Amino acid sequence: MSDSDTDSPENASLRTPIVAVLGHVDHGKTSLLDQIRGSAVIEGEAGAITQHIGATAVPLDVISAIAGDLVDPDDFDLPGLLFIDTPGHHSFTTLRSRGGNLADIAILVVDVNDGFQPQTIEALDILQRSQTPFIVAANKIDTVPGWNPTDDAPIKPTYDEQSDRVRGDLDERLYEIIGELSDEGFSADLYWRVQHFQRNIGVVPVSAMTGEGVPDLLTVMMGLSQRYMKEEMEIDVAGPGVGTVLEVKEEKGFGTTVDIVLYDGTIRTDDTIVVGGTTEPIVTDVRALLQPRPLAEIRTESRFEQVEQVDAAAGIKVAAPDLDDAMAGAPVRVVRDRALDDVIEEVEAELAEIAVDTDEQG
Ligand code: GDP
Repeated sequence: MSDSDTDSPENASLRTPIVAVLGHVDHGKTSLLDQIRGSAVIEGEAGAITQHIGATAVPLDVISAIAGDLVDPDDFDLPGLLFIDTPGHHSFTTLRSRGGNLADIAILVVDVNDGFQPQTIEALDILQRSQTPFIVAANKIDTVPGWNPTDDAPIKPTYDEQSDRVRGDLDERLYEIIGELSDEGFSADLYWRVQHFQRNIGVVPVSAMTGEGVPDLLTVMMGLSQRYMKEEMEIDVAGPGVGTVLEVKEEKGFGTTVDIVLYDGTIRTDDTIVVGGTTEPIVTDVRALLQPRPLAEIRTESRFEQVEQVDAAAGIKVAAPDLDDAMAGAPVRVVRDRALDDVIEEVEAELAEIAVDTDEQG
């Protein structure tokens, strides 16, 4: 650590964008997340891919290893992508952060055979209302009859490998999806034709089964974040942590714990925190910060390892007394050197906002 003043701009840092995966049931959200996790584990040096609580961090060097020629790591200064492990628009809408959704960007998964379905349209509505930048993963390209797969390949070379008939068949399905997006008011095109991802939605053909197109998907997500979200990703890394509760869970040896996604600042083991509860904000002291232990190290020990400090963006389990009434979707704030009453007020204000949103959505 340097001895620089903790309030100096040198502490400003870029955090990892938080990514949510949405789409109709069975279109492949879970498989896509598994495929991304799988590729990241294979490509990552030991320790490079970090399985967080409730989220998976894919650092830039791993994305660059997966994407090969598609990514020049020098073009990026965001540290990577943090995928929320629970897909679907329920988790997307209930997971809020101050002033918006917890997820900064999203992947909308559409099955190329099935096209737009009710939950696809619902997801589009939600993305539009929350003004969340997103791309469309046109999934299951390997199911086009006659498809000749090359596992984990970028889309261009594998597309060129296919026969004219197979390519034509895929094109037809992709243009159907682009047409459906247009019917819903979104101008979209195949991602390599898109110049301005703010104006046009990029469609990335992928297979969550074979991994084809996954390099492209990660590259486009990284590019989209870098170009359009960089300012929003600027945080004070040393500041008091702010996060959202993913889940409230009983954990052997730790009592009731909360799994949180931290989207700003840091949280430490000696912090006092304020957590949104079912009746009122809970003020408590962090007892332990827990991360999943790498699989290889699990013998008879705890599934978790304790860490002293976590920086945003990250998923972490917090053990602390009095968490029984904590609420999924509620805010978590570190008090640190601020007045406790102010922090309680902030949490109360955020809880009130969540209540209004829930009423509006019925
Ligand atoms: P979710 O409900 O959106 O999370 O969908 P799942 O990931 O559970 O996938 C639904 C089904 O589609 C499962 O049987 C998957 O194995 C299958 N599936 C998902 N992606 C692909 C793909 O790219 N190719 C093929 N052939 N099957 C897929």
